[in-house]
Amino acid sequence: MSHEPRIQHLADDFARSGLNPFHVPVGVMLDETNPQKSRCIRCNTCDGFPCLVGAKSDAQVICIDEAVKYPNVNLLTRSEVKRLETDASGREVNGVVVERNGSLETYSADMVVVSCGAINSAALLLRSANDRHPRGLANGSDTVGRHYMGHTNSVMMAISKCPNPTIFQKTLGINDFYFGYQDWRHPMGHISFVGKLDAVTLRAGAPAIAPNFTLELMAKHSLDFWLTSEDLPDPNNRVTVDRSGKIVLTYTPNNLEAHERLQAKLKQAMKQTNCEIHGHECHQGLFSRNLFVGQQIPLAGVAHQNGTIRFGNDPKTSALDVNCKAHDVDNLYVVDGSFFPSSAAVNPALTIMANAMRVGDHLLDRMGVSQAERVAQSLMVQV
Ligand SMILES: Cc1cc2nc3c(=O)[nH]c(=O)nc-3n(C[C@H](O)[C@H](O)[C@H](O)COP(=O)(O)OP(=O)(O)OC[C@H]3O[C@@H](n4cnc5c(N)ncnc54)[C@H](O)[C@@H]3O)c2cc1C
Ligand code: SF4
Repeated sequence: MSHEPRIQHLADDFARSGLNPFHVPVGVMLDETNPQKSRCIRCNTCDGFPCLVGAKSDAQVICIDEAVKYPNVNLLTRSEVKRLETDASGREVNGVVVERNGSLETYSADMVVVSCGAINSAALLLRSANDRHPRGLANGSDTVGRHYMGHTNSVMMAISKCPNPTIFQKTLGINDFYFGYQDWRHPMGHISFVGKLDAVTLRAGAPAIAPNFTLELMAKHSLDFWLTSEDLPDPNNRVTVDRSGKIVLTYTPNNLEAHERLQAKLKQAMKQTNCEIHGHECHQGLFSRNLFVGQQIPLAGVAHQNGTIRFGNDPKTSALDVNCKAHDVDNLYVVDGSFFPSSAAVNPALTIMANAMRVGDHLLDRMGVSQAERVAQSLMVQV
């Protein structure tokens, strides 16, 4: 996706100072060569909102809308899975208990795939403890719920004299510090953008006395960076379920120096930027504390949750095998952000999707679906 002029200018500045800015992969159906026919209209509400014209390559548009076209696919909405039940041996899930429209219903299947997101999948397995699985379903390793990760993230606004009229800002990334740099040989993380902030979004994090016009002015002149550093898998950072069934998230941040150094790198890089009207002065105010607003995302920001049902070869130290099948249960898979053994330092969705497709192929193999049948099915739905 092309940069808009303000972001292209920044990319040129970064490149001149020796960095390697790149275009981040973005899942939108934008055809820049043929704008009239383009499904995506490059609007300013992409980040964190559903696309009302169906042009975002998300699970709804790409998978669910397509899957429900098959006559043998049913999608139950307003349905919360409360627990999973097993047969007497404990090796097979034979009941999926669902609360739907106020009553409980039980479903069964040859294979069950849990995909509730890293926090809720772990909570579901923990709530499904039984005589054969006293610490929670598939939790012989005692790893279910542990090693919660969510990245160390911050949104950093760089205010400049020049306005930033960008509509779709999330096109640029910098990975020059990802594996370390000359002055610090350890990974620091990834620099990219959030969707363009406006006064309404800023008000959510602003002191009550901040006058609206200040927020509007800030938003008009800000470049809104997203910084991600890897948090490390600590067994004590975990999801548990209390006696009333509520989820408890316990987390002590780690690897913070990497993030602080990444923030410092961005500040340094911004100092070297230049503009035709104001020269280096354009960003002079950026580094005084009252003009540079840095806010680390708090624990409640669980957007990047991962790691709570880790996969691995050893049933003693992981809950899932390499195909994301529970070591302890023969027909149970967990396919979402839970399987990560480490969090890396990039947005997680593409990795989650890639793994889901990989496990999907494994499930088709396990069901004995031939390659010819797979092609025929996909052609049928296209027709
Ligand atoms: C505002 C926001 C912006 C983001 N932006 C980006 C981005 O730009 N790039 C990126 O890579 N990532 C982004 N992420 C992160 C990305 O969305 C997640 O990493 C990804 O969606 C996680 O996928 P998942 O399959 O693990 O879980 P989810 O996508 O959360 O899916 C879990 C599903 O299970 C359902 N569920 C939960 N419990 C139950 C239950 N008991 N019974 C039935 N259903 C249940 C939930 O309703 C949900 O539909 C963003 C996240 C947020 C919140
Ligand atoms: S929300 Fe806007 S930018 Fe995002 S895919 Fe839809 S039309 Fe494109």
